[in-house]
Amino acid sequence: MKIVIGHLFNDLLNLYGDKGNIAALKNRMEQRGIDVEVKTYGINDDINFDELDIVFIGGGSDREQLLVCNRLKEIKSDLTQYVEDNGVLIAVCGGYQLLGHYYQLEDEKIEGLGILDIYTEQKNPRLIGNIILESDIINTTVVGFENHGGRTYINNHTPLGKVVYGNGNNDSKDFEGVVYKNVIATYLHGPLLPKNPILTDYIIKCAILNKDKDFSLCEIDSEYELKAHNYIIERFLK
Ligand code: GLN
Repeated sequence: MKIVIGHLFNDLLNLYGDKGNIAALKNRMEQRGIDVEVKTYGINDDINFDELDIVFIGGGSDREQLLVCNRLKEIKSDLTQYVEDNGVLIAVCGGYQLLGHYYQLEDEKIEGLGILDIYTEQKNPRLIGNIILESDIINTTVVGFENHGGRTYINNHTPLGKVVYGNGNNDSKDFEGVVYKNVIATYLHGPLLPKNPILTDYIIKCAILNKDKDFSLCEIDSEYELKAHNYIIERFLK
């Protein structure tokens, strides 16, 4: 079994240790004997989505998102097809916003991919701090850090989780992120996956199911990952 991870626009969208998410996915697959190849794509590189099992798009500043915006138009139909064919896509913060129809800044509008029926508006103050969710998708808590000016409105989409500490998608502080098919879009970074091994395994399972329905993921030791996760729960919820 071999899984190929595509890290898109790592030259522009790579805030807050987003690379750590790739490292966590790779590590938990390699421990199970799965071969992992990571391909990185700069803004001008050609991308063949047929070669990829997991696509990762990280966070970026408003300026960097504006730079990525034109390139997005060129990959829109291929990435949309990849998602509709159940391709696994993880989009964090700026990457999450870019999956929607648009991100409205004070005096500029960044066109998104429109893969998700969501939109984002920039407001003050920035929403910054630790965040904890309860996720029905994986039946456990998800912990992370958020830092965004954008408020995202997700219409009828299923959220990644209910906010139990922090802000989330917008000022109503109720839900965070979106899960659509095999897309996980979220404001959580820090990075997200090293502290959330159950979510990491969920993503790995989705990618593997696309290749081999009979492959079962064995349990591996998650002592340190869960310690980091539980520390945040203890610190902010108890
Ligand atoms: N620039 C976006 C915002 O401020 C996304 C920031 C990020 O990716 N952390 O909302």
